[in-house]
Amino acid sequence: MDVEQVVIIGSGPGGLTAAIYAARAALKPLCFEGFNAGGLIPGGQLMFTTEVENFPGFPEGILGPKMMKAFRDQAARFGTRFVREDVIEIDAKSRPFTIRSESHTVQAHAVILATGASANWMGVPNERRLADSGGGVSACAVCDGALPMFRGQALGVVGGGDSAIEEATYLTKFAGKVYLIHRRDQLRASKAMQDRFFKLVAEGKMEPVWNSVVLDVLGEKALTGVRLKNTATGAESDLPLRGLFVAIGHTPNSHLVRGVVDCDEKGYIRLPHPPHSTTNIDGLFAAGDVADHHYRQAVTAAGSGCMAALDAERWLAAKGLI
Ligand SMILES: Cc1cc2nc3c(=O)[nH]c(=O)nc-3n(C[C@H](O)[C@H](O)[C@H](O)COP(=O)(O)OP(=O)(O)OC[C@H]3O[C@@H](n4cnc5c(N)ncnc54)[C@H](O)[C@@H]3O)c2cc1C
Repeated sequence: MDVEQVVIIGSGPGGLTAAIYAARAALKPLCFEGFNAGGLIPGGQLMFTTEVENFPGFPEGILGPKMMKAFRDQAARFGTRFVREDVIEIDAKSRPFTIRSESHTVQAHAVILATGASANWMGVPNERRLADSGGGVSACAVCDGALPMFRGQALGVVGGGDSAIEEATYLTKFAGKVYLIHRRDQLRASKAMQDRFFKLVAEGKMEPVWNSVVLDVLGEKALTGVRLKNTATGAESDLPLRGLFVAIGHTPNSHLVRGVVDCDEKGYIRLPHPPHSTTNIDGLFAAGDVADHHYRQAVTAAGSGCMAALDAERWLAAKGLI
């Protein structure tokens, strides 16, 4: 079996940017672009959104799927080969690495893991329909909060941790009012974040909706509100909203390498030598959201994909493998 110089797993902004750089460096990368692992598809998370307004180079914005097609075309133009399957196993303990999908088994000197992170959804009816159609439900305030349809409107954020407060705070720049919907009557967030939250409440920009869970998301084409259930009394009520931001965490798609590659307590891959993309396994690099619980943006994923390809190229050269 021929040994690949570099195999890239994942075809979001991180994986495809790594592919562009590796292909231009004549490493002939093979990219497993995924099928449906982690609820994602080839092209990654941006395949589930409409307008991307914050990726540099597109002053009018660009549709997520259109942007990811352009990434892929650019990677293909320089010779990236693609396999449209999920990787189901990586043997990273022996050299070269062995990577297996349903119908392919390949060996590689270097592997770049760019399998992303999947937003956790509440799992209530109509949530994904209004998220996937751009109808006003989102899992990313920084990505979507500035869209014109949310300006001056009543917006909801579901969650009670630091990222929920972060998202809700960000939204107060655009919203008429932000309602923080939380299943308990106190926040899980850190003291600093709670201080920020209660200051915004005092200023009338934010309002807590305590002891509440979302039972359903309302609206045909566009969100009109949510149906809530009070966890203390069981009473149901509707809250009119134009936007709903689900901030109940993400699940990094690191299952393939758990137990072999060092991950933090949430499963994000640890990069022990920042800014490098090296993991604790020599020759295995990570890029994008699977190793980044902090920024989780397309441009940061793309930047780290570039870094991973350059790190892999230098590593291969240092080992005399290219
Ligand atoms: C609805 C939504 C809207 C967003 N809008 C914006 C925005 O406007 N601007 C912005 O900057 N960011 C936005 N983001 C965030 C942005 O999409 C992510 O930060 C970015 O996509 C992360 O890129 P990534 O390459 O790390 O992985 P992802 O995009 O998550 O892609 C991961 C890839 O890995 C593949 N994969 C997973 N497991 C396997 C496996 N076992 N084998 C093979 N392949 C696998 C998947 O199929 C996928 O191709 C948005 C996110 C969401 C969910």
